[in-house]
Amino acid sequence: MIDSRGFIYCPICQSKTKTKVNKDTVLRNFPLFCPKCKQESRIDVEGGEMRLSNENPLQ
Ligand SMILES: [Zn+2]
Repeated sequence: MIDSRGFIYCPICQSKTKTKVNKDTVLRNFPLFCPKCKQESRIDVEGGEMRLSNENPLQ
């Protein structure tokens, strides 16, 4: 879901968004907006990997 240049892909429609992260970027409950499907997804990014926030409830 994150390409080699760091761009995040929309988890809903799989399009590339304009949001870019680095390998050491950490995001928590980040509102990722997709310019294609115009939906917002809450995501977490850590260690160069992305997951949906709602799949990882706060402990
Ligand atoms: Zn989308």
